[in-house]
Amino acid sequence: MKEKYLVINGGSSSLKFSLYSMPEEEIIAKGYFEKIGADDSFWSINYKDEVFKNEEKLNDHSTAVSVMIRELLNNKIINDLSEIKGVGHRVLHGGELYSESVLITDKVLNDIVDLTNLGPLHHPGEIAGIKAMQENLPGVPEVAVFDTAFHGTMPESNYIYAVPYEWYTKYKVRRYGFHGTSHKYITSYMQKKLNKKDVNLIICHVGSGASITCVKEGKSYDTSMGLTPLDGLVMGTRSGSIDPSIIKFISNEAGLSVDEIDNALNKNSGLKGICGKNDFRDVLKLIESGDKLGKLAYLVFMDSIIKHIAEYYFELEGKVDAMIFTAGVLENNVMLRKDIIDNISGAMHVYVNEGENEKIGYGRELKEGLITTEESSLPIYVIPTNEEVMIVRDCYEIVKRA
Ligand code: ADP
Repeated sequence: MKEKYLVINGGSSSLKFSLYSMPEEEIIAKGYFEKIGADDSFWSINYKDEVFKNEEKLNDHSTAVSVMIRELLNNKIINDLSEIKGVGHRVLHGGELYSESVLITDKVLNDIVDLTNLGPLHHPGEIAGIKAMQENLPGVPEVAVFDTAFHGTMPESNYIYAVPYEWYTKYKVRRYGFHGTSHKYITSYMQKKLNKKDVNLIICHVGSGASITCVKEGKSYDTSMGLTPLDGLVMGTRSGSIDPSIIKFISNEAGLSVDEIDNALNKNSGLKGICGKNDFRDVLKLIESGDKLGKLAYLVFMDSIIKHIAEYYFELEGKVDAMIFTAGVLENNVMLRKDIIDNISGAMHVYVNEGENEKIGYGRELKEGLITTEESSLPIYVIPTNEEVMIVRDCYEIVKRA
């Protein structure tokens, strides 16, 4: 009998799951539950070539999980609940407490609850997901996989903000970094690919959220996101790093509250703030139609990527084993990949291999590959990220060890 593991992603009114067979890392089924708590809630489950779905009142996350279990059994996706050996949960923030994935005990759950101030948008849904699994699958080990954990190795000089030190000691204001599960996946992929444990990498994860991580000797050394995922790169709807004085200035000028400004920086800034479109494909359409703000948004977006690459190239003293482009935008967009490489080419001596670059992306021949020429000072690869596999892998290893 194959061992099965669930990966759970709890949102405030949604719950997504994937059922894996381990250690093969094969996906057996995937599904989602939406509008939990509302009158028009619905769910959908994909299994082999079939889709099971229904509109059904889901009062809370626990009801959603009980429906998930009912459907897994009714559709013979599993024969018995005892086949499920573990559950891995995506959790946003481990604060300074967790620099590794961990078996969820009462203490761990309490800590995740206490860390809600650092992840106010994510933690309530994730906590609901953990509790719902505990109620429906009592005794099955659960593991928390924190999006911040991989960055726990950053040196103090890279995580301390130059603000009153008391803000750190009293309130834990510091750089934490996010997308850690993705950066960890890519690091472990590259360690195998290059057959080198102490790899130095610059990993550019650019999707609707975006962050760049500098990996030194196989560990996160610096990263662009900060206390929250708002810091760093320009993103789909997020501003990335800005002059902090803008907050007071715009509050005075436009009469906005701190909450309203925070909302604007998170939801109405970035690509969307400049050109009105946050989906990168829509920005490309604007550019094709000759829209000036679309082009400007593209340039500002690209510039923020280039500046972070330059910063991390210097932090690694130029000793970079590879640079990696990953996540929705960089896995798929040929033009941005080429433009980035052309712009850093003069300083870093990297040259795009146009033929190989053209082959990679959605609807193209390949999903991954090397996109620089042999003369380049370092190789640049496109590698699809896989956060879910990283979660199920950590869960499997921790459950086996427990
Ligand atoms: P997240 O996980 O942060 O939601 P993703 O990594 O899924 O984000 O990336 C989403 C982004 O990738 C969107 O801006 C989308 O436009 C972009 N994207 C997806 N497919 C393509 C494509 N074929 N060409 C260009 N951009 C794409």
